[in-house]
Amino acid sequence: MNSKYEAVIGLEVHAQLLTNTKIFCGCSTKFGNNPNSNVCPVCLGHPGVLPVLNKKVVEFSILFGLATDCVINEKNVFARKNYFYPDLPKGYQISQFELPIVEHGHLDITLKDGTVKRLGITRAHMEEDAGKSIHSQGDETLVDVNRCGVPLLEIVSEPDMRSAEEAYLYLTKLKQIVQYLGICDGNMEEGSLRCDANVSIRPVGQEKLGTRAEIKNLNSFNNVAKSIEFEIERQIELVEDGGEVVQETLLWNADKNETYSMRGKEDSHDYRYFPDPDLIPIHISEEWKNEIAETMPELPKARFERFVNDFKLPEYDAGVLTATKNLADYYEEVLKETDDYKSASNWVMGDVSKILNEEKIDVSKFPISPVNIGKLIALINNNTISSKIAKDVFPEMMKEDKDPAVIVKEKNLVQITDTSAIDDAVTKVVDANPGQVAQFLEGKEKVIGFLVGQVMKETKGKANPQMVNDALKNKMNEMK
Ligand code: ADP
Ligand code: MG
Ligand code: ZN
Repeated sequence: MNSKYEAVIGLEVHAQLLTNTKIFCGCSTKFGNNPNSNVCPVCLGHPGVLPVLNKKVVEFSILFGLATDCVINEKNVFARKNYFYPDLPKGYQISQFELPIVEHGHLDITLKDGTVKRLGITRAHMEEDAGKSIHSQGDETLVDVNRCGVPLLEIVSEPDMRSAEEAYLYLTKLKQIVQYLGICDGNMEEGSLRCDANVSIRPVGQEKLGTRAEIKNLNSFNNVAKSIEFEIERQIELVEDGGEVVQETLLWNADKNETYSMRGKEDSHDYRYFPDPDLIPIHISEEWKNEIAETMPELPKARFERFVNDFKLPEYDAGVLTATKNLADYYEEVLKETDDYKSASNWVMGDVSKILNEEKIDVSKFPISPVNIGKLIALINNNTISSKIAKDVFPEMMKEDKDPAVIVKEKNLVQITDTSAIDDAVTKVVDANPGQVAQFLEGKEKVIGFLVGQVMKETKGKANPQMVNDALKNKMNEMK
């Protein structure tokens, strides 16, 4: 980046709230149902129908505000945002304008060099989603209005970010918080977390903000970062060439890695906002706020600290395990069967996460239940199986989520701790490898590794390695 300029970025994030029903009617919010099946006269905006507010939406929004140190506004008003669009049958969207439910909050991100940066949250307001236009059918456009009336929390940041990296970290943090709160599943592919990025540049040292362009509908964190990087460079080049940035709405072309113009950007007065006469203002009492505060779940930072303090995990482990609520939950379920905290961490961060990354799935979809991972660790620790055998049991558990003790029995993998059986195998190996035995007796103790390996082979990996080691040494020392 040209060092004469500084980038300024602010993000608007739409988080779909995890309610079963829509914000103003009883229709289902389920994703993937048949197009236009989750609808009723209210969310279709038929004349004469009246919206009824879903209380959960308010409670989830308050929870978010409390978790991000926002002010919770006592008085809340819904406003109509008027615009025409084929996927908006009512001709307006019910949103909030002058009195959003929460404002003036912040969240902290940790930059690569370890410094913590505080990023402001301007406001977050409740609103209903619009439908979806599907342009993929030749010349036709199809409309699916299932999403009309699905509750959203629009979270608007201050223009506090200075790079694509900071924007990426902000989003990561935001997603982590809404997932921990249980108010949004954070699934960008299914559209339950959507992000618009506002980008401008200004000469270093200048206070006044430059004209911003807004990049809409970014559907992955990577695309957010890449589009911001592209946009910063585009604006700098434009200005350097004597041009001027215009306020406009852009879209991101992920194939070509470039932004392109969608339309000139409206100003808010174009929407003719006015208070919705069908909905009375909501009053959020101190008492209600406190009730909700009491339901506040453990947040990422507290959980991280608990993992370090109670489970004595390295900070690295605690960071990885608490990155998502689901992974942290999975880890703690493993601990129901074992109190070997570090082994449990190694299994979850290692064998389990490796498959999650390869298959690109969330741990909630992982085929092995955490209790069975815990049981596997317990089998190693009580010497029923070696950790080597455990690595063979694991793929069997992937095929079928069974108690590993059952698999060990069925496959006859129980560790041999019977000394006579080990002695027999040791005798066999010593007889078959006179050369290595002679080397050992001459003082080249390193060859013991080879001999242990042979005994393990002989016992199909089932002998207890420590016992094999001891038995071999005894046997050979007797030969001196
Ligand atoms: P709108 O809905 O019209 O886009 P909002 O005020 O709701 O307007 O959102 C504006 C977003 O753009 C905020 O996240 C804000 O921080 C950011 N923003 C405002 N001005 C600038 C600017 N000059 N450069 C970068 N970001 C900006
Ligand atoms: Mg905007
Ligand atoms: Zn409905």
